[in-house]
Amino acid sequence: MNTSTPYLQIEHLRKSFGSFTALDDISLDIQEGEFVCFLGPSGCGKTTLLRAIAGLEQQEEGAIVQAGQDVSVLPPQQRDFGIVFQSYALFPNLTVNDNIAYGLANMKIPRRERQQRVQGLLDQIHLPDIGDKFPGQLSGGQQQRVALARALATEPGLLLLDEPLSALDARVRLHLRNEICALQRKLGITTIMVTHDQDEALTMADRIVVMDHGRIAQIGTPEEIYQQPATEFVARFVGSMNLLPARVLDHRNLMLGRKEVQTPLILPVCAEGTLGFRPECVQLQDGPWGLDRDEHLVLQAQLDQVYFMGAFARLEMTLDAELPLVQVDLPVEQMQNLEAGVGQSLWLSIPKAALKFYPQAQQ
Ligand code: ATP
Repeated sequence: MNTSTPYLQIEHLRKSFGSFTALDDISLDIQEGEFVCFLGPSGCGKTTLLRAIAGLEQQEEGAIVQAGQDVSVLPPQQRDFGIVFQSYALFPNLTVNDNIAYGLANMKIPRRERQQRVQGLLDQIHLPDIGDKFPGQLSGGQQQRVALARALATEPGLLLLDEPLSALDARVRLHLRNEICALQRKLGITTIMVTHDQDEALTMADRIVVMDHGRIAQIGTPEEIYQQPATEFVARFVGSMNLLPARVLDHRNLMLGRKEVQTPLILPVCAEGTLGFRPECVQLQDGPWGLDRDEHLVLQAQLDQVYFMGAFARLEMTLDAELPLVQVDLPVEQMQNLEAGVGQSLWLSIPKAALKFYPQAQQ
C-alpha cells in the first residue's frame, strides 16, 4: 500500500446540471503512476468527473489538488494533463506529425527537438512511418494511437482517457488495450480512464472506481471489486453474479423463495436482502453427502439447461419457481464426470467465503 502524498486529490466534489446532481460529494485519492478506471453505467457521472479534473466542467463545491497544487479553478490550458476522447478528435487538415506536435508549438521547443519528440512518440505507438499522412488516411485504431501520442507529446503529469476504445471494433480494441497498458507502465504516467466496459476496467486498471448515480459505490483493485463487491449494485454491474432475493428468518436461516435454507454466514437482523454468489464458485454433486453446512451453503436444484461455452459449461438451474434461475459454471471435464442430465436434481455447495449477503436498504 502506497502511503505517500497522492498525486491527485479530489475532495468533496459536487456538480449539478440544473436540478440534476451529476456528482454528489466525490472524494478520491490517486497515487502517482496509478492507472485508475472510472466504471459505471451510462449517466452515472464518470465523464463529468473526468471533465471536472480537466477543468472542462466547473464544480460547484469541492477541490481538486494535483501534484500539491490546488487546480480547482484553473482553466484547462493551465492544468497539466493530456486527454484522449472516444472520437479521436484529430485535426483532419494537419498531418500526423503536425497533429502530434500541436501542443508543443506554444512550448518554445526548438524545431529539431520537436521533430525528435514526435518521431519518438510514433515509435512508441508502433507507427514509425505515418508522420506525413493525414488522419483520413488512417484506420480508427491508428487514429486513436495518434491521439494518444498527441496527448503524451507535452509530457503531461496526468493522462485522461474518455472511453478511448469504444468506437473501435473488438479485435482492434483488444490490441489497443494492451498497447495502452504497456505504454502507461513504461512511462509510469498517472492515468484515468472512463469506461462502461467492465472487462476493460478489470484487465487494465490498478484500481477501479465504480460509480452509481453521481456517487462512488466502491473503490478497489480489480480483484477486490470482483471478489468483494461492496453493494448489490456493484455485484450486479461487475461480472455475472447469482443474486437471489432472500427473507431473513434468524442469524443463520433464511427463505429463498419457498425454501428454508441454513447459511454458514451470520446474517444481519433485517427482514429482506439479497444472497449473492458467482457461478464459478459453485460445486455440484449428485447427492448431499459429505457437505459441511457450517462452511458451505447447500442447495438442491434442478438442472434445466447446459450451454457449452468452450472452456467451461454454463448450467442453468431452478432452485425454486419463484426465484431467478441459478447459473453455475463448471469446467467441461467436471461436467462430463458428473454425467448429469437435464431434469436431474443436483446438490450445489457454495463455500462461505464466496457468499455475499446484501441487506435491503431501509426505506
Ligand atoms: P455515458 O457513458 O453515457 O457518457 P457518464 O457516466 O459518463 O455516461 P455523464 O456524461 O457524466 O455520464 O453524465 C452524467 C449525467 O449528467 C447524465 O444524466 C447526463 O445527462 C447529465 N449531463 C452531463 N452533461 C450535461 C450537460 N452539459 N447538461 C445537462 N446535463 C448533463
